[in-house]
Amino acid sequence: MIDLRSDTVTLPTPEMREAIAHAELGDDVYGEDPTVNRLQQMAAQVTGKQAGLLVASGTMANLIALLVHCPRGAKAIVGSKSHTYVYEAGGGSAAGGIVMTPVANLENGALDLSELERELATPCDSHFAQPALVTLENTHNNCGGVAVPLSAMAEAADMARRYRVAIHLDGARIFNAAIALETNAAALAACADSVSFCLSKGLSCPVGSLLCGTREFIAQAHRVRKMIGGGMRQAGIIAAAGIVALEKMVDRLAEDHRNARALAEGLGLIAGLNVQPVSRRTNMVFFEVDGSEATAQKFQQELKDREVLVGRRGPTTFRAVTHYGIDRRAIDRAVSAAAEAAGEAFFG
Ligand SMILES: *Cc1c(COP(=O)(O)O)cnc(C)c1O
Repeated sequence: MIDLRSDTVTLPTPEMREAIAHAELGDDVYGEDPTVNRLQQMAAQVTGKQAGLLVASGTMANLIALLVHCPRGAKAIVGSKSHTYVYEAGGGSAAGGIVMTPVANLENGALDLSELERELATPCDSHFAQPALVTLENTHNNCGGVAVPLSAMAEAADMARRYRVAIHLDGARIFNAAIALETNAAALAACADSVSFCLSKGLSCPVGSLLCGTREFIAQAHRVRKMIGGGMRQAGIIAAAGIVALEKMVDRLAEDHRNARALAEGLGLIAGLNVQPVSRRTNMVFFEVDGSEATAQKFQQELKDREVLVGRRGPTTFRAVTHYGIDRRAIDRAVSAAAEAAGEAFFG
């Protein structure tokens, strides 16, 4: 199977399995797991923050950030297409009593600044939920995996600062963004008070995300993590793979980007498939199948019959994600399979 549904399907590398087997362990709820402590230090360093915290998932990292930054009844301003708003089961509202307030994401993943200002400029009046947080996302998953330019992030962050509102960066794929923008994770996270990133996507770890920020922020995050059941004991088993990821798996993400560009070009040549153009493409290709939902379904099934899996993102929209384990040959095979599947779906 050529599984292009997501970069979360990646399996740990042999080196990760080795590191997991030999990890030095302790009870991390007591702060005594040396492997976790080392990974958290590395994460803080790579994002340019004072401290880091290992958590179970990106969703948990973002939820903890929301709960630390926002008192109950406060307003968190999020992108209308952001992962936090769309795909995190309403956690901020359900667990934190937070008013999740969407503002439009532009095509390049940036927040619409005039909408953002309108939300930030909420009168300090007892009628209105008060803004406490703006969240940014980079790369922006739902905007085609685009790397959001640093200048766009800085504009939104500067505006939030003017209103004394904190900024959280959902950097689930921050290293993909850094590579595409020819910068580094710390530069991307510099405009944010807190940042999260995932180990279990393109970096190929089996599980885990990091939340980073000031020492004070992470101390509060530590309590919230415990409260929501995320205090793990010998979590060095997880952290060991994370250390390998940060040391060995970051630079190779560039290969995923090259493969995604090749995939976009290949799919773009197939009649009936419309590839969403992306100015700074990372490891994702969104495309639409001409015609009805039934045609799109047939296309997906025909593709599956040819051992290629893509993710469904709408009635006729699909997402293909490149990752560790997908090489250039797999891309060529996927494109051929897509050409055949399109032939069957449209004319079969
Ligand atoms: C995947 C993802 C998350 C959540 O990560 P999980 O580990 O799946 O909970 C958050 N934000 C973005 C942008 C993501 O792509």
